[in-house]
Amino acid sequence: MNHPRRGKLPGWLAELCDGFAAVLFPAPCRLCGELLARAALLPLCDACLESFLPLPAKVCEVCGLPLEALAAAEGESLLCSACREDFFNFERARSYAVYDGALVRAVILLKYQQLAPLGKWFAARLAEVAGRNGEFLAADVVVPVPLHRERQRQRGYNQAELIAGPLARHLRLPCRSVLLVRTRPRPDKLHLTLEERWSSVRGAFAARPGSQVDNRRVLLVDDVMTTGATLDACAKALLDAGAKSVVCLTVARATSHTQPPRIAEVAR
Ligand SMILES: [Zn+2]
Ligand SMILES: [Zn+2]
Repeated sequence: MNHPRRGKLPGWLAELCDGFAAVLFPAPCRLCGELLARAALLPLCDACLESFLPLPAKVCEVCGLPLEALAAAEGESLLCSACREDFFNFERARSYAVYDGALVRAVILLKYQQLAPLGKWFAARLAEVAGRNGEFLAADVVVPVPLHRERQRQRGYNQAELIAGPLARHLRLPCRSVLLVRTRPRPDKLHLTLEERWSSVRGAFAARPGSQVDNRRVLLVDDVMTTGATLDACAKALLDAGAKSVVCLTVARATSHTQPPRIAEVAR
């Protein structure tokens, strides 16, 4: 997976190589180191995959924040305090699981080691989430949250695209990473305060000129939602360019707005 020439192989060939490698050499789970019982393209053991904690059913109807403690009155919608103030530009956000434990490390594997089979596995989980929430199935186009071109050049790929591509195939929608660009890079500082997170993404995204998002319902995809600042800034750029609506799916969700896991701050 870390082979230096790996980035140059076409996706199908890289996957084929992984497949052969998995058959020939018993691979250890990339999260816990246990030897995998069978050859698999996805080098994670069942115990690690089963340790991910899917989000509870009771979440804020708009932003998807778990609201265990809050109970809505009869007939009232369940909203967090931010969404009661109509805070976000996106219409809905949902995630697969809580950003904690082994999932934090799995997201890092995807982000820094281009583990495409894991992107596919996450996409399958997000397709299930979309299946339970009709508004996601009504989208016209899937767009991954973009990296700044410099960051993408250094890394060689965009981890959100590793999820968005296979998710779009599940939902039979086009995936169009070209529709949105990051025009201002993330500050180099490793850890950002809550304030810095919001100010660093405000106005940092733009729909491409001659936009093809006009009057379309966009499904925005990313790996992690912490404060929602990035998704919100992307949604604003898409709506400014004429998108009809924006809904968001992320693999992981930090469940506290005030204390996102610090690891989440690492280099988007
Ligand atoms: Zn494991
Ligand atoms: Zn909310």
